[in-house]
Amino acid sequence: NPHIRGMAPYMPAPRQAGYISLDANESPFDLPASVRKKFLKKIKHLVFNRYPDGPSTELRRAVGRKTGLPPDWIVAGNGSDELIGCLIDALAPPGGTVVIPDPTFVMYERLARIRGARLAKLPLDDQFDLTPAFLDPKLLKSAALWFFAYPNNPTSNCFSERLLLTILKRARGIVVIDEAYVDFSGKTFLPLLRKYPNLVILRTFSKALGIALGRVGLAFAHPKITRLLHVVRLPYNLSGLGQALALTTLASEREIRQNIASIVRERRTLLDRLAASTVFFACPTDANFVLVKTARPKKVFEFLRARGILIKLFHEPRLQSYVRITVGRPAEMRRLAEALDRMENDSWRK
Ligand code: PMP
Repeated sequence: NPHIRGMAPYMPAPRQAGYISLDANESPFDLPASVRKKFLKKIKHLVFNRYPDGPSTELRRAVGRKTGLPPDWIVAGNGSDELIGCLIDALAPPGGTVVIPDPTFVMYERLARIRGARLAKLPLDDQFDLTPAFLDPKLLKSAALWFFAYPNNPTSNCFSERLLLTILKRARGIVVIDEAYVDFSGKTFLPLLRKYPNLVILRTFSKALGIALGRVGLAFAHPKITRLLHVVRLPYNLSGLGQALALTTLASEREIRQNIASIVRERRTLLDRLAASTVFFACPTDANFVLVKTARPKKVFEFLRARGILIKLFHEPRLQSYVRITVGRPAEMRRLAEALDRMENDSWRK
């Protein structure tokens, strides 16, 4: 496949025991003991020698009850990563144009390149917001697919809602709004789904719902689109264990959601701490992570790693003077705050 020539494998490093992981935007809270117990009870009764429910029917019904959408408006995927690939497979013709902001979540570009799509990477402005370039009439007419993470990863902000709506109204192609971090922003396009037949919403169980291990994502769209996603996805794309875990999580949602309040509180504390700093500048955030500007990102990364804290460093030129910090549990954030205090001493700046 000539399209993958020159591409390196994407192999996230295994989690390192003993470190505080503030580097991957996961939930810092493991499954509550009571929910874990429910899950173990549920899987005791699974039939292991048979294939799982291919279209994840029970899961889509459960999600439908929560969102008020019929199951044929919902597709379940092996993480939303898989659904991003399915969307390109189903909706971008060979050589068709996929529009993405720059910078954004790396999988849009990777999966589009693997599939030989033409990428239109449009730079975000100084505030990491969308620009009028996204309203270019030629692009609105010709692009097959648009991806917007809302809030955007790694920049942590939500784009201008007005501009997104204009794109949605004018685009001939399909507009995907990836709401992986919706529980931390409280902002969603889901109610607009019936109004705009070219809108697709992505959600994931990997962030606020805290089951990244299970690999479960969802796409919401008009049945004309979901049918195409069912055409291209693998027949048993979600394991029976993943489906059981997602169902248990949904049934215990109220308990798990208490963690979101903690994360939002800790985000506030971190932002206040950074606002008082002379060496760090926090970008506005609607997510469970913060993009932080600093003159010496590598040094910050290494200083924190030496103290058992992992954060995210970037290689892209545009993000050379930034690090991304995921909000952790209160005790973890206290450790981070102590490290930041120490870092601001003169000894570090030398
Ligand atoms: N979309 C965005 C914007 C993300 O940041 C991530 C995770 N880093 C994903 C999708 C992928 O999530 P999942 O675990 O469901 O594949």
